[in-house]
Amino acid sequence: MTVLVVGGGLSGLSTAMFMALHGAPPLLIERHPTTSVHPKARGQFPHVMEALRVAGVDEQVTAASPPDGEFRIIRAVSLNGPVLQEIMTESPDFSALSQAPWANVSQERMEPILVDRARELGADLRFNTELVSFEQHENGITARLRNLATGEEEETEVDYLVAADGHRSPIREKLGIELIGRGVLGEGTGTLFEADLGHRQVLCYLLNSDLPGGAGVLVSTDVPGRYAVGVSSTDSPKDWVQIIRTATGIPDLEPKVLDLPHGRSQTTHGVAERFSEGRIHLVGDAARLMPPTGAFGGNTAIMDGFHLAWKLAMVTRGEAGPGLLASHDPERRPYSKIIADQQLLLFSQRGRPDLADDPALPKPVQPVSALFFGCRQLGGAIIADPGDPGDLWEDPAQPTGRPGVRAPYVKLRNGSTTDLLGRGFVLLTGYHAYRDIIAKIEVHVLDEPEFFRAYGISPEGATLVRPDFVIAWRSRGFAPEELEKAWRAVLDWQA
Ligand SMILES: Cc1cc2nc3c(=O)[nH]c(=O)nc-3n(C[C@H](O)[C@H](O)[C@H](O)COP(=O)(O)OP(=O)(O)OC[C@H]3O[C@@H](n4cnc5c(N)ncnc54)[C@H](O)[C@@H]3O)c2cc1C
Repeated sequence: MTVLVVGGGLSGLSTAMFMALHGAPPLLIERHPTTSVHPKARGQFPHVMEALRVAGVDEQVTAASPPDGEFRIIRAVSLNGPVLQEIMTESPDFSALSQAPWANVSQERMEPILVDRARELGADLRFNTELVSFEQHENGITARLRNLATGEEEETEVDYLVAADGHRSPIREKLGIELIGRGVLGEGTGTLFEADLGHRQVLCYLLNSDLPGGAGVLVSTDVPGRYAVGVSSTDSPKDWVQIIRTATGIPDLEPKVLDLPHGRSQTTHGVAERFSEGRIHLVGDAARLMPPTGAFGGNTAIMDGFHLAWKLAMVTRGEAGPGLLASHDPERRPYSKIIADQQLLLFSQRGRPDLADDPALPKPVQPVSALFFGCRQLGGAIIADPGDPGDLWEDPAQPTGRPGVRAPYVKLRNGSTTDLLGRGFVLLTGYHAYRDIIAKIEVHVLDEPEFFRAYGISPEGATLVRPDFVIAWRSRGFAPEELEKAWRAVLDWQA
């Protein structure tokens, strides 16, 4: 069985890399000749670094991060002040919840790392190649591809298609899938420039009536001395030097404006009304659009690939029924809605005081660590505990170990629970009798009391964890038959 991934951004490359890791390398096409030449999304959260570690690229990502240093998020009239609000001066400390570090790599540097690893694992990545059209039929999808270097076209038959084709998503559009949300919140344009600003690592939301549109953003990139500036204006400003001087608050600055196409962007809030249509599955910006405030866009795009790839791999390898793929929508869409709403809330607080008093805005998720480690994937390929109240997140500092939540991080005598996860289904238990019940499940027998507490099981119990770290099932006592039933129910899942 074959899978075509359309789009070589973070979500498509992640899907291809993790599928290849799980033994089902797909074909990926990207219409651009190379990966992104703009820094775009920046920063990798610890739970994303955990996933990247499974693929063996975390150390490369850490090495590509700029040297440690202060990273400030401020609201200000200009970079040189006055500062209106210190939003964040350092990343939150999640060391009790994950052993993975934060990283600060831009999309421009991240994508080549994913490309190299996906190819190394056997994925067929073709740049300069566009999806021209597709037709879904009962047994698969007919896709017409065009090589943009030669103009040659070919038709190919695939079993599944992943729409990783970004914010405009021609695939989503053709399928008639609407985005549900507030729609376009603003438009802007921006450029990259180089200047000696003292290597500041900063994200500065600008409120300044001398800027076009009266507002903007200035952000450092991971190349020392290179910055991106954006303004809330739909017209392409002619005098970038003057804008940069206003944005930095340095009237005699002589910046070098880089000769790249000036990006136009829309700030949009909307989640696709469905993430799957038959054999086609949406990931990344094709599935949801949100303001960049909070930096979940790029991170969630990578995690979409992490969560979808094992399912695609097991289905195409004949190890799971096709129904498993229908769990993509009920698992990722509610989560996407939470994340998009929280970024909308931050957007209103940081850059749009006119929205901040809107009573219809969502309430903040507390604690904020829940957004990273505590969201639950319910309604999908998990077997909920009897009587599960169906709450969509929990405080990861008070882990319950309930099905649907990320398997809690617990330090063990040798390593941690996280070290044991990611390559396939894993059973964590205190009971040796669980060994060899299902040959395809890797069993780890643990005896640390912290493990039993965090996972809510007794030493005779067991917890089944999916390859994407999500708890699929648990039993408080010894229940080998239930384990077999649960394992089959997950693999043969039906909507
Ligand atoms: C200027 C800018 C700054 C941003 N800053 C941040 C930030 O600081 N933090 C953050 O979290 N997010 C940020 N984002 C958003 C972030 O970049 C996206 O959320 C993320 O890139 C989504 O990845 P993706 O793979 O879904 O989409 P994309 O990266 O957009 O990739 C989609 C790819 O599909 C390709 N494609 C489309 N149609 C076809 C076709 N028919 N055939 C072949 N290929 C096709 C496109 O060429 C594109 O490369 C920013 C975005 C922009 C534009």
